[in-house]
Amino acid sequence: MFDSDDAEGGAPYLLSVRMRASREGRHLGGAERLVQPGLWLSAVSSLQDRALRYGGADQVHIGSDIVGADNVARVAALPVSTSPYPDIAGARREAQKLLQRCGVPGAVAKDVFRLLDEGPGPGRTVMRGAMLIHTASGQRLEPDPSRGVRVSRMDYTPRCREILGAALAREGLTSPRTMEAIGIATKALWCGVMCELCWSDDPGYVAGYVASAVSGYRRFAQIKRAGLSTGGRALFLRDHESVGPVIERLEKAAVLIDSINTIEGLRYP
Ligand code: AMP
Repeated sequence: MFDSDDAEGGAPYLLSVRMRASREGRHLGGAERLVQPGLWLSAVSSLQDRALRYGGADQVHIGSDIVGADNVARVAALPVSTSPYPDIAGARREAQKLLQRCGVPGAVAKDVFRLLDEGPGPGRTVMRGAMLIHTASGQRLEPDPSRGVRVSRMDYTPRCREILGAALAREGLTSPRTMEAIGIATKALWCGVMCELCWSDDPGYVAGYVASAVSGYRRFAQIKRAGLSTGGRALFLRDHESVGPVIERLEKAAVLIDSINTIEGLRYP
């Protein structure tokens, strides 16, 4: 673990920058950053580049909110490890086992695999955000099933981004998606989510992960079939967790990841 750097650069506030891109009303993708004022324009510009890389976006929204520096929590990134199972069946078996360890019944886990395969939004569409799922019953809890819940207002301090990026690159994990997903999972768990399952809706990106306090960020090299443009995120909530405050934290609480961490038994990339 290393010491945090001064991400705010002494400024009394940070900027939360959010981008979403769509085509004919259909969500193509989105991303978020939380940066010191001096990095605002470069964050906007990198999100703009990213939006334009989505094939055929006809609408791109980029918006910024000011967040008081006093209201920013600092957390350590989840430890990262890679499953030894290179194939979909092995990955899903292990993913199910990890979810079960967090209290998700096998039948609920399988149902969520099916939703991610089919498209979890209304009419088998891709959602803009994540599903919220009651761990024991599998009941869907997100108020808007097409929007879902967007985990927002989180980022790495510049130094942490550099160190984690280099550590991931040494393991051949150079896609910015990995670092972004570790950020989302880290914040989701900090907000009270029990565990998370994710794979991308990008037909060319077949990796995915389960994140939990027990497993850390457990990455699967292939958990979906190539060519499928369905996928998504499932955030599992415990029985006693009330949904409203968790959604409020996921969407509004500001979190900077300022250190990386390891836990015993997990190989840190
Ligand atoms: P991606 O890994 O970017 O392909 O995203 C896969 C799916 O995860 C998207 O279709 C969304 O449903 C969901 N998603 C992406 N980013 C977020 C986020 N910040 N918060 C919640 N869900 C997200």
